[in-house]
Amino acid sequence: MHFIDTHTHIYVEDFDADRDAVVARARDAGVALMLFPNIDVASIAAMRRTCEQYTGCCRAMMGLHPTEVKETFHADLRCIEKELEDPCYIGVGEIGLDFYWDQTYKRQQIEAFELQLDWTKQLHLPVSIHTREAFETLLPILERKQDGTLSGVLHCFTGTEEQALRAIDLGFYLGIGGTVTYKSCHVRDFLSRLPSERLLLETDAPYLPPVPHRGQRNEPAFVVHTAHFLAQVLQTDAETIGEITTRNAKALFRL
Ligand SMILES: [Zn+2]
Repeated sequence: MHFIDTHTHIYVEDFDADRDAVVARARDAGVALMLFPNIDVASIAAMRRTCEQYTGCCRAMMGLHPTEVKETFHADLRCIEKELEDPCYIGVGEIGLDFYWDQTYKRQQIEAFELQLDWTKQLHLPVSIHTREAFETLLPILERKQDGTLSGVLHCFTGTEEQALRAIDLGFYLGIGGTVTYKSCHVRDFLSRLPSERLLLETDAPYLPPVPHRGQRNEPAFVVHTAHFLAQVLQTDAETIGEITTRNAKALFRL
């Protein structure tokens, strides 16, 4: 079986003690490729180092995460824009809006998001979008910015069916992570009605581990559990889910 974990942060310090073993388990589980979204200026060095250490099975994106938009965001964005000149990056991310944790920098988050969206268009790169408690602000921005040149994924999608369809209408993919295996996750109710050619698999490791690993640190090998769950819902097998989602990820990220 082959999978692409389209959103994973194994470069963070949670994995410093056993990163080799984590990557080996991912390979054994059939995870052929891991895509790293950046977090902030401080995370760039570790992300690049991890990419160089495991060449061939990881690729990186560059962006400023919404929860890291603070008073220094203009300087941080200049640094990230400079970093994006390196052609090694396959996308802009992760960027977005998060009004759940903190609304102090709401206005700045919107400014940073719009600016980084403009870069993705100029650079012709896909974008990985994080959104929490902010869909109704975020979707109109995407609708306004979409002129045919914007492509990307709403990572770890947790919105409503109506929001899912709006995103798909805009040409976006939906990242399906471990949260769909939770009984409380309402995305399960309409998952089977979403077009499979717009679904991507992801872990968001070290966060949001799928059942049966809830409460543990998440890692790319666990993407298999999400694939099995999706296979059940779509009445197919995990192998087919692997094929479909790998094809989708390759198309979006031009891999
Ligand atoms: Zn993330």
